[in-house]
Amino acid sequence: MRTDEYFDLEIETMTPATLRLLQEIKLAKQLDYLYARSPFYRDKFAAAWIRREDFRTLGDLARFPFTTKEELRESQAACPPLGSHMAADMADVIRLHASTGTTGRPSFVGVTRRDAQVWTHVTARSFYAQGIRPSDIVIHAAGLTMFAGGLPSKDAMEMIGAAFVPVGTGASEKVVLFAKALRANAIHCTPSYAIYLADYVRREAKMDPRELAIAKLVCGAEPGAGIPSVRAKMTEEWGARVTEGLGNADMAPIIFAECREQSGMHYNGYEYVYIEIIDPESGEVLPIETGVSGELVYTSLDRECVPLLRFRTRDRVSILATSCKCGRTGFKMRCIGRTDDMLIVLGVNIFPSAVRDVVSSFYPQTTGEVQILLDEPGPGVKPPLEVAAEYGSGTQDLPALRKKIEEKIKAVLSVSAAVQLVPPGTLPRFEMKGQLIKKLYEK
Ligand SMILES: [Zn+2]
Repeated sequence: MRTDEYFDLEIETMTPATLRLLQEIKLAKQLDYLYARSPFYRDKFAAAWIRREDFRTLGDLARFPFTTKEELRESQAACPPLGSHMAADMADVIRLHASTGTTGRPSFVGVTRRDAQVWTHVTARSFYAQGIRPSDIVIHAAGLTMFAGGLPSKDAMEMIGAAFVPVGTGASEKVVLFAKALRANAIHCTPSYAIYLADYVRREAKMDPRELAIAKLVCGAEPGAGIPSVRAKMTEEWGARVTEGLGNADMAPIIFAECREQSGMHYNGYEYVYIEIIDPESGEVLPIETGVSGELVYTSLDRECVPLLRFRTRDRVSILATSCKCGRTGFKMRCIGRTDDMLIVLGVNIFPSAVRDVVSSFYPQTTGEVQILLDEPGPGVKPPLEVAAEYGSGTQDLPALRKKIEEKIKAVLSVSAAVQLVPPGTLPRFEMKGQLIKKLYEK
């Protein structure tokens, strides 16, 4: 085992039994805090007839009500600026972040000094698991402003001691220039941007992306890097080790991070964020065991400004393992999509990311970029599923390619699709999250 493998050796290799004890103590304290300081939770708990004394062990958490994003939005609209779930004084808040989400109206999250320390710590631990070390020069080619993955990433890279280069989004020319001039060896970005950038480097800088000698692609904010064909393409283009992380603007910037084994993201929240995996339909808590799939639910264990209990993320995940060669004891998982994005075509559940997976497998005949076009609101979709996919530059026989993609979607996903091929570079890429669904009914 490598001695420089861990950021927090004791925490990251803690036995599950010891971790549970630690989490139980911290959750009891967080609940005391909620009952004392959060009007939102006081009302919620009263409505559910649940008292503080009802919590004795972690298993009792299942008796407490869930929190949804809609509730947080309503709470914020009714009680600005942060909502009645704000449990700290504004005098103690040091930063405000926003996330736009699907409705376009921003929702705000505040952090106290303590919250910022927690975010920095868990994010640093995640980047470290992803292979970032003090000697690295990291180009941050993702959002910096407002985005919860922006400034906290800077703080976390600094905590590790890596050199952080704050380039931001929409500045590919600078990414290339700085990567060359500074001899940067790592890029932090979304997977769709990593793929776009490889195209850009070849087209505009007239060089092979591998010549930039980027050894580490640290990805997050969307699930692409965990899709085998997307990852294979990124690895081939850059010659870099690709790892992914996952967080949530309402909870912490990075809570799950993949280690150098590259076989799923480790649960990395330990003493800060407690995890439940639930059946999204029944709400029943599922065991954390290899092969289990369900919705990710977060509970704050150490939060002052906006602590959340049993927050439903709508992220669908699948547990890949409960141990790892690296020695970390946090379980490993992969995000398979968002419950919100799930479509149902004649009774078959389809995640847009699965369609992208199929289209990406045709690379380099396709660029891997796709959009599903919806004429009316989902999740029900009348077949065929309309898919716009970019063909790769140099692809000649488009009708044959279209037919092959349609056949493979049918074979792999069991739905009929109507594929429109569009020129490379025409589908949107610059958003923090790749927009896999285009709502044609929203003018
Ligand atoms: Zn590992």
